[in-house]
Amino acid sequence: MTAFRTAAILVAAGSGTRAGGSVPKQYALLGGKPLLAYAHHALSSHPKIGAVLTVIGEGQEALLEAALGTTPFVTGGATRRESVRNGLEALLAGGFTHVLIHDAARPFLPARVIDDLLTSLDAEGGAIPALPVADTLVRGEGARIGDTVPRDDLYRVQTPQAFSFDAILDAHRRWPAEQEATDDAQMLRAFGGQVALVPGDPMLEKITHPADFAAAETRLAAAMRVRTATGYDVHRFAEGEALWLGGVRIPHSKGLSGHSDADVALHAITDALLGTIGAGDIGMHFPPSDPQWRGAASARFLEHAASLVAAEGGILDFIDVTLICEAPKIGPHREAIRASIAAILGLDPGQVSVKATTTERLGFTGRGEGMAAQAVATVRVPARN
Ligand code: MG
Repeated sequence: MTAFRTAAILVAAGSGTRAGGSVPKQYALLGGKPLLAYAHHALSSHPKIGAVLTVIGEGQEALLEAALGTTPFVTGGATRRESVRNGLEALLAGGFTHVLIHDAARPFLPARVIDDLLTSLDAEGGAIPALPVADTLVRGEGARIGDTVPRDDLYRVQTPQAFSFDAILDAHRRWPAEQEATDDAQMLRAFGGQVALVPGDPMLEKITHPADFAAAETRLAAAMRVRTATGYDVHRFAEGEALWLGGVRIPHSKGLSGHSDADVALHAITDALLGTIGAGDIGMHFPPSDPQWRGAASARFLEHAASLVAAEGGILDFIDVTLICEAPKIGPHREAIRASIAAILGLDPGQVSVKATTTERLGFTGRGEGMAAQAVATVRVPARN
């Protein structure tokens, strides 16, 4: 068997705001994250998918950039079919043998579904996930019911739909321009291709209406796992140093010395964030021995840790930090520190808590020799399935 080289097309070209809100639904926030980010992460983190191309609507470049950062994209057409065609044509030069075509409005995509689809492609030109119809089906006769429709062999079709790349591109190229298609699988069948059925998943339910977002929040809770982790840091007070706490310069007779700008609060939060994904500690990522970090603003360490959490598909929920010192008084600076940490992490200040305590003049903090900080980070990361 020749090795699969599989790409994925994420169709996110809709302009409709039928699901409510002021932006197209694929950019609406679900659990604090743009809808399309979920499926994008599921596709791009799957080990057998080599590339993910997002198809966006006309003029949605800035929305995409804000949602996913820099990522390959192509602009779609007037219909879903044209959008998929644009995606396929754009992937042609990549030498892919197979392609998954997925709707961004189905955010929760279990890895098991992708595995099953790719396995089916060993034998067939296409494969789709589908769920058996559970409800009784009847024909309507005006305002009354007519006969029951046998449902034994009826399925509800989901995406991603998976195909041999050349076969689905060929079907798209041959499809009559004036005719609409229900989906890509029917286009393949129309030209003689075989499409396998694999078990779909209730998590793959599509978001169409405003009420679907509420249901999706419930599914989100099932799709994510809460993780908490702590961080702790200490720095020594020294004359002639600036005092930075949470990215805010605090007027004081002494400052903290040591790694970078010695921002003990940001270092503790950075370690807490790294802890939520088991990514080691700040010293591993930014060795104190490396001269490039001397005097560096610690916001970049925290931004880096947050980007690693985001790369795992994580959502940052809450940060709590306690500053431990006799002086300076933290109270007057609390709100500034809170706002600064929130800004660095792209959070609402309500998702950040800043507390302070003394140690009753006991120990190194009590003697004013140094300062300590401890932090707790709470994040949600995708459940492994
Ligand atoms: Mg430190």
